[in-house]
Formats: sequence, structure tokens, C-alpha cells
Amino acid sequence: MNRTEPPPPQHRRLPARILRATERPESVLAGIAVSPGIAIGPVFGTAEPTPEITRQKIQAADAPAEGARLDAAIAQSRKQLAKLRTRLTALPEDSQVEIAPLIDAYLRMLGPSRLIRGARQRISEGLLAAEAAVLREAEAIAGAILAQAAPGTSAEDRAGLQRRGDEVREIARRLVRNLTRAPFQSFAGLPEGAILICEALRPADAALLDPSRLAGVAAEEGGADGHTAVMLRALGVPAVLGVAGLPQALRPGDLAVVDGSAGEVVLNPSPARLALARRAVSAFARERQRFAKLRRLPAETLDGAGVELSANLELPLELPLIQQSGAFGIGLLRTEFLFMNRETVPDEDTQTEVYRNIVEAMGGAPVTFRVLDWGGEKGIEALSAAGIVPDIADTNPALGLRGIRLLLRWPELFETQLAAILRAAAAGPARVMLPMVTNVEEVRAAREIYERVARRLRRRGERLAEKLPPLGIMIETPGAALSADALALVADFFAIGTNDLTAYTLAVDRGESDVAELYDPLHPAVLRLVQFATEAALRMRRPVSVCGEMAGDARLTPLLLGLGLRSFSMNAAAVPPVKQAVRTARIEDCVRFARRVMEQSDPRAIAAMVAGEK
Ligand code: PEP
Ligand code: MG
Repeated sequence: MNRTEPPPPQHRRLPARILRATERPESVLAGIAVSPGIAIGPVFGTAEPTPEITRQKIQAADAPAEGARLDAAIAQSRKQLAKLRTRLTALPEDSQVEIAPLIDAYLRMLGPSRLIRGARQRISEGLLAAEAAVLREAEAIAGAILAQAAPGTSAEDRAGLQRRGDEVREIARRLVRNLTRAPFQSFAGLPEGAILICEALRPADAALLDPSRLAGVAAEEGGADGHTAVMLRALGVPAVLGVAGLPQALRPGDLAVVDGSAGEVVLNPSPARLALARRAVSAFARERQRFAKLRRLPAETLDGAGVELSANLELPLELPLIQQSGAFGIGLLRTEFLFMNRETVPDEDTQTEVYRNIVEAMGGAPVTFRVLDWGGEKGIEALSAAGIVPDIADTNPALGLRGIRLLLRWPELFETQLAAILRAAAAGPARVMLPMVTNVEEVRAAREIYERVARRLRRRGERLAEKLPPLGIMIETPGAALSADALALVADFFAIGTNDLTAYTLAVDRGESDVAELYDPLHPAVLRLVQFATEAALRMRRPVSVCGEMAGDARLTPLLLGLGLRSFSMNAAAVPPVKQAVRTARIEDCVRFARRVMEQSDPRAIAAMVAGEK
């Protein structure tokens, strides 16, 4: 493997001036720990910028449709605020008292208010597009509110009027965001060492973050294994998601501590807490250094069983971290990044170059390319713009045209990607993996296309690897897990995707904070599916790995080893701790432990066993 310099460490010391405690009282908010590490820094992102509006005027005939768009945006905004309102109960009482009236005021403004009446009028009479109508009306109202200040008005009253005007602007911004479906993407002004705090962060937005500048992330929305969490772990940015009431609790100039290991956000930490956090930053860095020493040691149990530990790659900027981690190769290359944050679908040459660079950078270590897995919360504008997929907000893509289903429906998209992977695979060992498989027919159809693409490339004179890279599948639906014996006849290998397997088995959205408590990879139903698929693969002598987030949790390593698994792929930072867990395990003990776990039907009992409490 070519070794390149890793990026600077995330948990660097911040200048003392921003580490001083602020005057405001400390508030501690609980969330879901999604990416380990401690970050201390000034917060950024309290107010989302107004999305850019390109369309101003409409034709008279379009006015009714424009009104309907506004109605839909109002309904969506109301839904979001109502949800926020219910989640406030998770906050300390003081914060509830402060925030609840604000949300109520927002909700009133979305009712039969002057803002909504005025915006409708600007659409029907002024023939303005809905976005422009909302923003202009909000500006007019905010201006009128401020104009109430007479020459003798006190500074305090003036500030009150300013605040009311800002509230109107804020609700207008929410409406416009829902009208344009504009993601939160304004990271340009993010100061170095800051903590990004927002309502929700889409995976595509997370992909735009620069981990060398950003100290940490905290958001109100999000679940433990959603794609945003996966992305933040990959970037090595300490992060807490699902923090109820966070954006509302925030004031400009706040200082925050994000504890991505404990799942806690502290706003305006006291001097004592700040000192504690600083010590935790140093302890985390020391632990990382200790783990780094494991890099060259074999991943082998005490009784000599070899275990393959690979890394998952979401973004090419992870390559140095992967090379540093001592990973065997890339066990899951999520190719979605190539399709995100762009308006058109990348062509074959563009894809080939990116894939080839990765294969070459891995210097002979194997790379498993997973073909495009659009769906779930991974919105991809380029595909919507090309008319290939419906807009993500209009459908439930998790149960719809996701993964291999979409690719079989759009063979050109599939063939282009396969051709690019096959060309890149001439530069080093590779495998190709299909996402969201539920039946044998999908694999057969995919293989036919795969072989056809290879024949065509050869006719075209492309130099390909003599033997086609193995074509395997993700086991990430209960349907696939329970058909594993049949699928093993048509697939060259399995990779168990425990993130979606958990979500689909338990009917829980993996990125949704409201049901985060129900998302449990240790639920016996999920474990039984993992066991069933693993045993089928071993019987049929097919390589099998786990590449969902479970693979990177060192506490679960003995259990997974005991179920017969010997290959794991995880975020690069998890490779050393998992290696340590492998090196201190004995297969015989693991098998006994797994047997005891599989006898349990209570997920809480399993969690206690895994935590070593039983
Ligand atoms: C999974 O579902 O476990 C998986 C690895 O795929 P993704 O997280 O990309 O959906
Ligand atoms: Mg998946």
C-alpha cells in the first residue's frame, strides 16, 4: 500500500481565547453518540442562510400551481415544528419555558397570518414565484414592525421589535427551504476549530465538511447508524446527533463541548467542565496513539485464527486514514459520493479515473466496490435531475426503487458504472458488490449485465483483468438473509450490511431520532438473521463479511467471531480497537459466548451480556 501523510489530527489544541468559559449558564443536552472524540469550540450555524432564489416571476396560468407549492411547504413546515414541539419534553424545564413559546409563535405564523395571506396575494396578484413571495412579504412585515419604533423608543424595546422581525424572517427561511428543498450547505464561512450545530445534516452535506477545519458536529435530527452518522465517523469528526432542542437552546457566541463518545453536548461549559473536557481531549489523543502501535501487528486471535479487518470508504479523503489504520483493504467502497453534490451523472471516464486512483492508492490491497445504492436518506440530486428517480421527498425510497432495483431499471446507469469499475480493476484486485438484493433473480440479471459489459469492453480493446472480479451481494434485507442458501448459489461472496438489516427487520428508520431507541442491532431477530446468513455462506464455502456499523464496534467482536465470522469492514478509526479485541479473544470462548447470547430473547439482556455485565 502506498503510504501518504495522514491529515492533521482532529483533536488538536485550540487557541486559549476560544477555550475560555462564557458568561451564560451551562446547559447539558443529551443525544446519540455517533462519532467518538471530544471537541471544544465556538459554535457555528445558529441561523441557516436564506437559499438563493433564481426564479422570481411566474405566468398567470401557473399561479394556482404556485399556490399549491406554498401550501405543501406550509404543511411541511408545520409538521417539522410540531415534531420539534413534542421533542422539547426531553429538555430541562428552563429551556422548555424559553423555547416552547417561540415554536408556538412560528406555528401561528404558519396559520392564517399576515405572512401567509400576503404571500398568497403576491403569488396570485403580483405573479411572483412562491419563494420570492414569501421572502418579500416577510421583509415587508419585518420592516413594518421595526417602523413602530418611535424616536424615543428605548433600546430594550427596539431590540424586542428587532427580535419579532427576525422571527418572521426565520419562519420565511424555513418555508423557502421547504419550497426549494435546499439542503443546509453553507459551510463556506465555517471558522477553523468551530463546532457545527444545525437542525439536520444530510449525508450529502456531511460529505462537504472539511474534517481538518471542523472540531465537531451536533444536530437535532439523526440516528446512530444513519448515513450522516456513518459519514461523520468516516471523517473522524466527534459528533452527537438527535439532540432535542439544540438549535433553539443556542445563542450567538456560545461555546460548546461535544462529547461524541458519551453522546452529550454542553453549551457554555463551566470552568470546571472545560478543564475536564480538555483532559478528555488529551486522553483520547493518547488512546489513538496507543492504538496506532497495533498497525503492523497481525489480526489474529490468541488461539491463532486469522481475521481480516478492512475499512469502509465513503469519501476519497479517507484514503490516508485507511492506509494509516493497518486495514487489510477496502471491504466496502460506497460509491454514492461520486454522484452526490453535482447536477449531472458522472460519465464512464470520470468514474474510471476516480476508481482507478483508489485501486492504485491501495497498492495491491483488495477493494470491494459497491455499486450505486441510491435510496433511504441518501438523496442524490443528479439522479432526480436526470429523471431517473423521483424526488426523495415525494416517495419512500427505503422501500421503493433502491439499490439494485434502480440499477436494473436503468441499465445504462448500471452499465456505465460497471464498465468504470472493470476498467479500474485492471490496476489491482477488486470485487463488485450489489446493494439491497432481495432475490436470486436480481443477482442473475445483474451478472448477465456484468458479463455483457465486460465482453463489450474487451471488444472495444480495453485492457481488463484476465479473470473478472468476483460479483457478490450485500445481505441487508431480511429477505436476503433468509434466502442466503439460495443466494449463495448465484453470488460469489456476501457482505452483511447490519445497518439496513437492523432497520428493515425492526421497521425502524436508521436515521430518525424519534425511533432511535428502537434501532437495535443486538435485537435477537437481527442476530438470528446474521447467524443464518453466515452459516449458509460457510456451508456453501462463500466468503462472508460484516460491513455494517456492528463490525466497527469492538465490544461486539467476540460475539461476531463466535458466530463464525472472520472478516469485518469498518470505519478506518475502528480498525485498531477491533484488532485489539481480536488479539485478546479466544475462538472457543467466543463460540460459547455467542451460544449463550443466541439463547436470549430479550435485547436488554443481550446488551448487558455484550457490555460484560452478565
Ligand atoms: C448497511 O446497510 O449495513 C451498509 C453497510 O450499507 P449502507 O450503510 O451504505 O446502507
Ligand atoms: Mg445498506
